[in-house]
Amino acid sequence: MEKIQNYINGDLIPPQSGNYINNICPATGKVYSLIPDSDANDIEMAVIAAKDAFKTWGKLSKKERYDHIMHLADVIEEHFDVLVKAESRDNGKPEWLAQSVDIPRASENFKFFATASLHFNSEIHEMDGKAINYTLRQPIGVAGCISPWNLPLYLLTWKIAPALTAGNTVVAKPSEMTPMTAYLFSQICQKANFPKGVINIVHGYGNKVGDALSRHPDVPIVSFTGGTATGEKIAAAAAPMFKKLSLELGGKNPNIVFEDADFDKAVTIAVKAAFSNQGQICLCGSRLFVHESIYSDFKCAVIEETKNLKVGDPKDKNSNLGAVISEEHMNKILSCIEKAKLEGGEILIGGKRLILKGKLKNGYYIEPTIIDGLSVDCQTNQEEIFGPVVSMIPFKTEEEVIEMANSTKYGLSASIFSRDISRAHRVAAAIDSGVVWINTWMLRDLRIPFGGMKSSGVGREGGFKSLQFFTEPKNVCIKI
Ligand code: NAD
Repeated sequence: MEKIQNYINGDLIPPQSGNYINNICPATGKVYSLIPDSDANDIEMAVIAAKDAFKTWGKLSKKERYDHIMHLADVIEEHFDVLVKAESRDNGKPEWLAQSVDIPRASENFKFFATASLHFNSEIHEMDGKAINYTLRQPIGVAGCISPWNLPLYLLTWKIAPALTAGNTVVAKPSEMTPMTAYLFSQICQKANFPKGVINIVHGYGNKVGDALSRHPDVPIVSFTGGTATGEKIAAAAAPMFKKLSLELGGKNPNIVFEDADFDKAVTIAVKAAFSNQGQICLCGSRLFVHESIYSDFKCAVIEETKNLKVGDPKDKNSNLGAVISEEHMNKILSCIEKAKLEGGEILIGGKRLILKGKLKNGYYIEPTIIDGLSVDCQTNQEEIFGPVVSMIPFKTEEEVIEMANSTKYGLSASIFSRDISRAHRVAAAIDSGVVWINTWMLRDLRIPFGGMKSSGVGREGGFKSLQFFTEPKNVCIKI
């Protein structure tokens, strides 16, 4: 069975403990590879390598770093098909989704941030002819990049790319649920002759490897994407050392459909926002607020559209949904559905595990599920489920829906559907979330500030915001 290796100082090496964790394919429920069960000792080695490499990498010109990174992106593209298949196998998502979203984004992240770094400039503050201040933007050192399993290579590279282009070196900790494309990526770094020690990848459990990375005194900057509870732990570990921290956390995102919305478009997007990637995207619209005047028709239409969704083999291009990430996560989602019933919810469609045939019979499949009749403050409508489950809630007025949308502890994203553009702008301004879409969902421009409010995160990444995060501003004042 294939043993995944850590990538430290340009070498693929086993964990120092010699221990491995089973890597399970969600589509079949079978173990298919082994993940290093690394610990603080492996992190120590990786940080030493990254610290040493920083002495050179941090001093390269922007153009030299750009050349290395663009070449890396090209080599990623040469391995496109292998990465697509690996991402789908490791995560359970349909291959077509990895092919159209995850893997193209991985190389795009490198190209986007490499190019951005050439255009990134700093500020000048002139003091009425008496003095000039200019702000240097300097790399910081070893950046810790911790990423989740839902968009494995997409989010790993979303962090590594700006960290590197800004001149830092990296110790990355991919999710132990989906280590495979990060491992393939480390092989790609070798094939691309990427400078040794600049990227290091250490696999294993979050509470060992991720924790050791967040606490390491020689890692002054940490970028984390994952659950809110983990974000709290990382913030607590990093705060006493005053580390620079970016936290991209969970969401319970409202989708708001007004009575004047383009009905068919809103239905299609609401279904997509609820069930894409098996509902395992932080931006998924898991609370669907619909104006009472169209509620009943809208409900019928989303049920009809959901009936057409096929849950099946991730390799089958006709499967709209594949498997959820793990047995444990499947059971968590199913228990949330049971909880919704206890809270008085009516399951309009779905609600159960699906047992597929043949090799897939032990895979982790869940029917796309729509729930109706729940109060806005119940657990189902307040906590992130992170599965193919959406709750429908009617509303009467704009004020009421704003209050309901803002009633959770989260504030990541929201979508508003209306033809009244003044109202859409008004509601967008009133919603507590870092990202608001009007008449669409998940339309991403990599330049925008991306991140959440409240318990959905701290800081913003994307475009120059990422380059600002991964650099230290230093002001220099010159007296004239
Ligand atoms: P998670 O928090 O369990 O794990 C994320 C990463 O953190 C993994 O690599 C894990 O090993 C590591 N980790 C776990 N415990 C740690 C600790 N004590 N110290 C350091 N690292 C630790 O999250 P997940 O289950 O992998 O991902 C799902 C969550 O991620 C959802 O809540 C989702 O909303 C969120 N998410 C947010 C965004 C965003 O941009 N805001 C994007 C994707 C996913």
